[in-house]
Amino acid sequence: MTPDVITTSEEETESAGERLAGSLAPGDVVLLYGDLGAGKTAFVRGLARGLGAAADDVSSPTFTIIQEYSGRAMLYHVDLYRLEPLEVDDLGLDELVSAEGIVAIEWAERWTGRPDDAIEIRIADAGEDRRHIAVSRSP
Ligand code: ADP
Ligand code: MG
Repeated sequence: MTPDVITTSEEETESAGERLAGSLAPGDVVLLYGDLGAGKTAFVRGLARGLGAAADDVSSPTFTIIQEYSGRAMLYHVDLYRLEPLEVDDLGLDELVSAEGIVAIEWAERWTGRPDDAIEIRIADAGEDRRHIAVSRSP
């Protein structure tokens, strides 16, 4: 369990993601929760940077749905925002969760089959550029 953090800029949120990346291993699943504009994608950009991947490319995977970044481990970045429940089922996210890579999922609440042993990131707007980030490894 990591203590909650308050960030005051996008860059700080990226840094929080970068720090978490240091404790991630292939097979880990990172579930991101938070409203539009909360900073989920910024956090994932930090994850990519922390894994040594080309973080500048990390944006919301709107059209591709799943984007892959190659660092010391593969990072699979998924955004479920625009998907219907049946489309989410069809993605085969279970199969993506493999020993080979780390999976980070925005709008994770839309994945009904999400694992309960994942790392959960909850980002909330705390006014202006402040964001409250809670990190937990669920039981
Ligand atoms: P999401 O993926 O949750 O929809 P994004 O990461 O795409 O959110 O966007 C977050 C937006 O909020 C960006 O425009 C960013 O500049 C802005 N922002 C302001 N303060 C912060 C902060 N502390 N952390 C992250 N993003 C912030
Ligand atoms: Mg996003």
